[in-house]
Formats: sequence, C-alpha cells, structure tokens
Amino acid sequence: MQGKVVAITGASRGIGAAAARVFAQAGATVALLARGTDATGALAAELGGGAFALPCDVADWAATEAAVASILDRAGRLDVLINNAGVIDPIARIDAADPAEWGRAIDVNLKGVFHGLRAALPHMGAGGTIITVSSGAAHNALEGWSAYCASKAGAAMLTKAACLEQAARGLRIMGLSPGTVATDMQARIKDSGVNAVSKLDWAAHIPADWPARALLWMCSSDANGFLGQEISLRDEAIRRRIGLIA
Ligand code: NAP
Repeated sequence: MQGKVVAITGASRGIGAAAARVFAQAGATVALLARGTDATGALAAELGGGAFALPCDVADWAATEAAVASILDRAGRLDVLINNAGVIDPIARIDAADPAEWGRAIDVNLKGVFHGLRAALPHMGAGGTIITVSSGAAHNALEGWSAYCASKAGAAMLTKAACLEQAARGLRIMGLSPGTVATDMQARIKDSGVNAVSKLDWAAHIPADWPARALLWMCSSDANGFLGQEISLRDEAIRRRIGLIA
C-alpha cells in the first residue's frame, strides 16, 4: 500500500473507520469520507501518513464527484475505492414504511455506490481496486428490511456490472459481505427488536477490524480469483485464508 491512495466512504465509524486504520497502517494515504468531518478529521489526524478527511454525502452526485476531484488534487491519484457508506433505516414493514425514508436508503446504499463508481472509474487505472461492502441481506429477504435488502441487492448487481465493464481495463472490482459486525448499525438493529438479526447475542458479531483486514487482503493478488464476486466473511475457509482465524 506504500504510495497508494485509498478512498473510504463512511469512514467516520464502524467498518469504514477500522478500514482507514488498517490501510493507513499498511502505508496507504487514506481519504476518509463521511457526511461531516468532525470524526473523520480527528481520525485522519491520529492516523498521519497524509490521511485527510473530506465531507461527502454519497447520496449526492455533485458532492461525490467533488470529493473525488479533491482527492486527485490533493493526492494526485486514486488506487482503491471502498464503497462502504450505508444505512439500515428505515426498519419498517413495506405496508407501513415512510416512502421518503425508504427512498433515502436507496439513495445512500444503491445510488451512493453508483456515484462512487461513476466518480472514481474514469480516474483509476490497471491494478486499481474497487470494493463494495455488501451484506447477506443482498441475497435474503428479512422482515422490516425491504429498503436495506433491495438496495444491497442492487448494489451487489451494480458491482458485478462494473466488473464486467471494467475488467478489460485491468480494474479489480469485488464485493465483501462481512457477516454481522459489532458497530452502531448492529446496535440500531438490536434496539429495533425486528427480525432474527436483532435477537442475536452481541458476542456473535465479529469486530470491525475483521472486515477491515479482509478489505486490505482483497487489494492483494491473493484475492485475484474473486474478481467480480462477493466474498463472505461467514466462510471459515476465507477467514483462515485472510489470517483472521488460525
Ligand atoms: P455504521 O457504524 O452505522 O457506519 C456507517 C457509516 O456510513 C458511517 O461512517 C456514516 O457516516 C456513513 N454514512 C451513512 N450515510 C452516509 C451518506 N449518506 N454519505 C456518506 N456516508 C454515510 O455502519 P457499519 O456497520 O460500519 O456499516 C458499514 C457498511 O457495512 C454498510 O454499508 C453496511 O450496510 C455494511 N454492513 C454492515 C454489517 C454489520 O453487521 N454492521 C453487516 C453487513 C453489511 P456519517 O453518519 O458520519 O456520515
């Protein structure tokens, strides 16, 4: 990662913040994106190594385009994009969901991934890596999570489509399904009391450092067999291969 520039959306906490730490430790210059810059600014200062924070609501195309332009101005290149920003709300059954809130989840979780791809792809070259943080919910319906499941399913297909279109340019594009991770998002799920995921014991969730380390591994040639695919951290063989378990 020495000399590489890595952009991470949703880097203010949870998986995105953990990824920022792991990539910075590996020598990358990390651009931390989130809606505000209080948390990302503090984290960037702690990380050093040229890390910097940029305000970016991924639901907003102009803001995402401007953030990528700022990265290029400031760091001169973009080697890795982690499409990580995401929201679980609204947690509501379809017959009761607020239409505006439902649409907002699509704007962030699906259109946000498109905005990231659209802004970054023209500026990335052979060997560059783009990873979308997916979810088991992209492939399984869960009560109360229609916006999340539908948006994550769309984002997973968008990731495959991007891989199809960009493979000839040597771009590496994949998805990571992390399983359940101990973050604010899981706390919100637990509070909701809706569906089986909210009933899981907190100890069942993996630490955010695991998907962060998986994302770094996915940028290495060892992951080349998974281009265009989604890697699941529920898979013990994958956990072992990445070095998360013995
Ligand atoms: P989290 O702790 O709630 O963090 C979400 C991050 O997304 C925050 O940094 C937040 O930043 C950012 N974000 C939200 N809306 C945004 C927007 N419109 N523009 C830019 N950034 C935005 O969640 P997490 O658990 O780390 O989740 C990270 C990713 O993993 C998500 O895509 C989630 O769907 C996926 N995932 C999580 C789990 C899990 O068990 N936790 C499981 C499967 C998949 P600000 O609020 O500061 O803008």
